[in-house]
Amino acid sequence: MITGHFGLAAAAKSVERPVPLWALMLATIWLDVIFAPLYVAGIEHIDPVPGTDGGYGNGIIYADYTHSLLGALVIAAATGLLCARWWGRRGAVTVGAVVFSHWLLDLVVHRTDLPLLPGNAGDLPRLGFGLWQYHALTATIEALLVVVGAALYWRAARQTTGSRGRINLITALILASGAATLTLDLAGI
Ligand SMILES: [Zn+2]
Repeated sequence: MITGHFGLAAAAKSVERPVPLWALMLATIWLDVIFAPLYVAGIEHIDPVPGTDGGYGNGIIYADYTHSLLGALVIAAATGLLCARWWGRRGAVTVGAVVFSHWLLDLVVHRTDLPLLPGNAGDLPRLGFGLWQYHALTATIEALLVVVGAALYWRAARQTTGSRGRINLITALILASGAATLTLDLAGI
């Protein structure tokens, strides 16, 4: 779902100009960024879905801290607060919302592996609508998110004049084509 997350960053950038695009892109995958060291440390882990190679969309992801509902909310709030000093209150709220948007998009695609509380405390039911079971559909939704995000970003970038505007336009192009390639690649199309 990486490319879908990036599409959302581009869409957010089109309405929230003061926050740089790189920061929004990082915000969309921030939960996965924190997941990485926990994964290496063996605190969070991925099991392949039985009978599959465990590749794209075929993992049961036990990211019980970073991807628990409460954990994601806390990380989003903390990250937003941290960003307030650079991009003000509105920027902080945007970054926090974009960080949490990752969990919502993951909720759609993940199998039922997202816990409500950190460490799956209380052994409550796990969430996930499991869209990853349908590769082509997931790829289509990801591509749509990217196209809509890049289009919104493109429109916003066109309103910026001078060299900064040109850089923005080039970024929009790279973003759209890179994400499209990645999506097709991941979907095995
Ligand atoms: Zn994730």
